[in-house]
Amino acid sequence: MPHTNYHSHCNFCDGTDEPRVYAEAALEQGMIAYGFSSHVPMPFFCAWSMKADKLGDYSELIEKLKLEYKGRLQIYRSLEIDYIPGLIGPQTSFIKEINLDYTIGSVHFVDRFDDGRHWEIDGTAAIFEEGLQKIFAGDIQNAVTRYYDLTRMMLREECPDVIGHIDKIKMQNPDNKYFSEDAQWYKGEVIRTLDVVAQTKAIVEVNTRGLYKKKTTEPYPGKWMLSEILKRNIPVMVNSDSHHPKEITGEFEIAFTLLKETGFKTVKSFVDNKWQDFMFDKNGLILPVNA
Ligand SMILES: [Zn+2]
Ligand SMILES: [Zn+2]
Repeated sequence: MPHTNYHSHCNFCDGTDEPRVYAEAALEQGMIAYGFSSHVPMPFFCAWSMKADKLGDYSELIEKLKLEYKGRLQIYRSLEIDYIPGLIGPQTSFIKEINLDYTIGSVHFVDRFDDGRHWEIDGTAAIFEEGLQKIFAGDIQNAVTRYYDLTRMMLREECPDVIGHIDKIKMQNPDNKYFSEDAQWYKGEVIRTLDVVAQTKAIVEVNTRGLYKKKTTEPYPGKWMLSEILKRNIPVMVNSDSHHPKEITGEFEIAFTLLKETGFKTVKSFVDNKWQDFMFDKNGLILPVNA
């Protein structure tokens, strides 16, 4: 069955291989379209993001691959763009200037330590704990609320085409280490966020990385949140957030099955340079007969 993936990393950021290796692997794994979305260059040192002086080469190489694979695999050029108010976001001028095919907006950083470091919420458990204690005095509810606050701000002020791993903060909460995802306050934050999403055109990705990295038991987002997304008619898509060629369709079957069980009829994919709705089953997209 045909697949697509628009959230992917390569060796321009923290992926393992050069872009061409992913294009080949995408073809082998039955992809009809593949979008590169390296981590945007950050205005401070960040080990996993692209270095600013590589952005030109990145754009040039992806555009070259587009032509080279024409007729076999549709290739698209994007970035996974961090949202940090006043510093960077999907509408930052240097990003708009390079005319990406689409944008992914993600929150990886929540506020700063006194020494100026930005607090990474999807890094190690030790860094998470450090920020929770030092920035939020150990108050998990305040920290998680701030994460969703920033997501809502991004949507209102610099809305991307795709919202990256919308509930990624839950990767720090295995076995309800810090809180119950059934808690009223947590569900309230999710609902408030989805109500904002529903006022935009943004697509919520179902991101399978937590599953194949064994960090979570559900994709980002999981079953309950997906049912709330469906109620609001918010469009969804399936992405793997691959960093290795083997991860390109990682746990897609689980994601498509979950979407089907929840009651979704279609998913969005960027095909022929536009967002389109596709029917699907557990094996992937069902293409129109005349496609
Ligand atoms: Zn991310
Ligand atoms: Zn990513």
